[in-house]
Amino acid sequence: MYIPDSIQSEQDYQNCITFHGHTCMGVTIGYLAAKLALKLLGEMRAVDEELIVIVENDACCCDAIQVLTGCTFGKGNFFFLDHGKMAFTFGSRASGQGVRLLLKQEIFQVPEREQQLATKIGSKNCTAEEQQEYKKLFEQRGEKTFKTGAEGFFDVEKIATLTLPPLAPRVPSKPCGLCGEMVMETKLSPQGRHLVCKGCQQE
Ligand SMILES: [Zn+2]
Ligand SMILES: [Zn+2]
Repeated sequence: MYIPDSIQSEQDYQNCITFHGHTCMGVTIGYLAAKLALKLLGEMRAVDEELIVIVENDACCCDAIQVLTGCTFGKGNFFFLDHGKMAFTFGSRASGQGVRLLLKQEIFQVPEREQQLATKIGSKNCTAEEQQEYKKLFEQRGEKTFKTGAEGFFDVEKIATLTLPPLAPRVPSKPCGLCGEMVMETKLSPQGRHLVCKGCQQE
């Protein structure tokens, strides 16, 4: 993993690491995506629901995006689509504009020589020279990628009018007809003579 010192020393980056628990490439990709999106939209971190984020994966990167954008699971302005793509859409409620960032295909592609060496290292069947060569190639590729800034990581698609999801619902709670636990009214469904929670429905 290659992450330049210039990024690692940033307070914003450190905040992501504190939240996420460890340094990794995923959290770094999320950091870069959030920084770039806020710049492109001309927005600041959301105090309330000024921004929305739609992530198309549930990997490490999502934690950095929550820290930097203020779009969080708890606030209800952080939406997850289970598409298995390294794609992130950021939207502004004020301007109605959005931007979708997709991790560039070349970021996934490891050059052949590097792959060969990685396999050899994995099988513990390599010389000290090969290990050195691998380290050098890996770092050079990392340096080159990071030199272009966040723009070098993502294909950017501007969205002139974003269809914004509704604001997080605030509804009263009622007791479930079976277990008696309080449930958001909109999450209760009729079953026989009762309105029941999802937990009781499954039984
Ligand atoms: Zn991670
Ligand atoms: Zn119940």
